[in-house]
Amino acid sequence: MTSTPRRPRSAPGAAGTPEKLWPPIREELAGIEPYGAPQLDVPVQLNVNENPYQPSAETVADIATSVGAAARTLNRYPDREFVDLRDGLAAYLRADVPKAQISAEQVWAANGSNEVMLQLLQAFGGPGRTAISFAPTYSMYPEYARDTNTEWVVGHRESDFAIDLEKARALVEETRPHVVLLPSPNNPTGTALPPEEVTALCEAVGDGGIVVVDEAYGEFRRTGVPSALELLERHRNLVVTRTMSKAFAGAGLRLGYLAAHPAICDAIRVVRLPYHLSAVTQAAASAALRHAPELLGYVASLREERDSLVEWLRAEGLEVADSDANFVLFGRYADRHAVWQGLLDRGVLIRETGPEGWLRVSVGTPGEMDAFKQALTDVNGARA
Ligand SMILES: *Cc1c(COP(=O)(O)O)cnc(C)c1O
Repeated sequence: MTSTPRRPRSAPGAAGTPEKLWPPIREELAGIEPYGAPQLDVPVQLNVNENPYQPSAETVADIATSVGAAARTLNRYPDREFVDLRDGLAAYLRADVPKAQISAEQVWAANGSNEVMLQLLQAFGGPGRTAISFAPTYSMYPEYARDTNTEWVVGHRESDFAIDLEKARALVEETRPHVVLLPSPNNPTGTALPPEEVTALCEAVGDGGIVVVDEAYGEFRRTGVPSALELLERHRNLVVTRTMSKAFAGAGLRLGYLAAHPAICDAIRVVRLPYHLSAVTQAAASAALRHAPELLGYVASLREERDSLVEWLRAEGLEVADSDANFVLFGRYADRHAVWQGLLDRGVLIRETGPEGWLRVSVGTPGEMDAFKQALTDVNGARA
């Protein structure tokens, strides 16, 4: 038996042979940078919309005890149906939105709401199917579509970042989407979606698709802004996703979830990996839920801090998008990168994202907000 010696596939091919890429990744993924904000160790981190408040010593101790108990069973696979956790999440949603009366069979969870949404695309998207959203919006959405071979079509928001319902309906008619991704409040603009629009889009999409309202920042909505959870009973094609990463102060937990018709949860069970939620995650998340009042205790002050940040930025003469979230989009700058860098040089990390000329800052503690305002004043002064 003979064998030809192998040569590295990235080496130039013989004359006439096209160069091959190595590793042999899917062509559409070649050369793509992985998604992710810079993780820099600076004093004031206002770039990924985390809750700045750490859990109390009491909550930490309770989580540690629960994780310790789970550790004693680590030779066994975890509860594949994470029943305790689903009960806890449903109880939490009933407390947050009493009108919705969510039950545990309507709840599904995964390692972050990003994984929940990827699972939704795996089950409801795929080759020959279409997903849509409205830009500017969350930059992960097109990635779920790409990774699941779902066709991605993006409509556009108006200059105030609201969705024009007539245009949205027209896009639904034209594309007949299988998945519609609608963040409310939207990232990076902070714009909430009126419930009439959710209803209109659920009706336009009909039984041919699902409408996913991503409420990652739902708990920060302003008074009088309802949650799409209230509409679940009316629309069986509606899915509302939530996360413990933001208001719940649990970004490190990696726990996201959804509420929907039980048949939608059953559809996800087909594509989920077996035992996708570790015993440690389940124990930590269930323990954190028992301390929901404490962990969510800063939401009210973060909302106040946000509203005063919006006012302050406007008083500085900047354009600022109305926000129902724990971040604020402001601008516009001819050279936003220079402003971002100027802030970083002063120890304040924000996010260079959104439409050209805009920057996004997360709401932090009062001390962090003072540091941000001081640094921005310096940067604007230095650039004036
Ligand atoms: C932060 C964020 C999420 C949450 O992601 P996790 O995976 O739950 O941490 C979801 N959607 C949007 C729009 C976000 O900004």
